[in-house]
Amino acid sequence: MDIAPPFASSPAPFGLLLDVDGPIANTVTRTIEVESIVTDLVALGNTGIPLAFNTGRSAEFLQREVTPRLRDAGMDPRARLHAIGEKGGTWFSSGEPSGTVHVDESVRLPALITDLVRPLLTGRYGTHMFLDEGKLAMVTLEQSTAVTNDAYLSVQADFDAELLAALTHAGIGWIHEVYDRRFHPDEQGNTPVRVEPTIISTDIQHERSGKALGAERALELFDDDGPLPRRWYTVGDTPSDYAMADWLHERGHDVVHVDVRPVPRREDPPYPVEAVDDVEPDVAAARFLRERVAEMRLGS
Ligand SMILES: [Mg+2]
Repeated sequence: MDIAPPFASSPAPFGLLLDVDGPIANTVTRTIEVESIVTDLVALGNTGIPLAFNTGRSAEFLQREVTPRLRDAGMDPRARLHAIGEKGGTWFSSGEPSGTVHVDESVRLPALITDLVRPLLTGRYGTHMFLDEGKLAMVTLEQSTAVTNDAYLSVQADFDAELLAALTHAGIGWIHEVYDRRFHPDEQGNTPVRVEPTIISTDIQHERSGKALGAERALELFDDDGPLPRRWYTVGDTPSDYAMADWLHERGHDVVHVDVRPVPRREDPPYPVEAVDDVEPDVAAARFLRERVAEMRLGS
């Protein structure tokens, strides 16, 4: 066990829960393109700011594209940094041996789901999408880079329909997370599997998985490694990222949500929202992080 770092002994003024695709990694290149994101996260982490990534991505992706960049830029291994993947299903923390991944078995999908998906990929869908083999708790079919996004989206609905039919045939209850939230309960009336199409993937996940579960996981981990901050910022580029702020607000935490790809909403949430729409999501997040560094008077 490491000794507690000196900076973890008093509450930090704020903590950050960060979506990855969009605010941190560029959605086109799927890597961190804005270098100040790396250096400012390191500056914040090394001064004791609690930092958590909360993403649908796998731990394997985070360990390949994100955390090595922070380590190479000087992130203290004792920093309060937790990387939560697969919408709360997996996680690892700064300072753990490289390659460590924890899995929440209660939200891990059975292998049967992957078995149902593979035959679909041998047909027409195999050129448009591939199975993300790095996922441990959920099952993700991601757009192949060999086809355009338009081509992918033109077959995604058909794929989803065949997938749902296969789930129904296997007796698995499901919810399809689109605007009308279609669902088909199993014999016990349950819908343990949620199918969520995104612009570049179809995610198949446990019904409890999501950004709220990721936020809950982050707070548990922060509760174990030091005092909780007085204020939280949540940062994301899709409507589903508001679930992080919803979860914190509902539990009485002071939260501001930073929406770096805002879309019109039916109603405003009951906490402050900073919407940034004049630049790309990662540039907007970089600007936000720079403001937090300035707030900490860390200079640059
Ligand atoms: Mg995102």
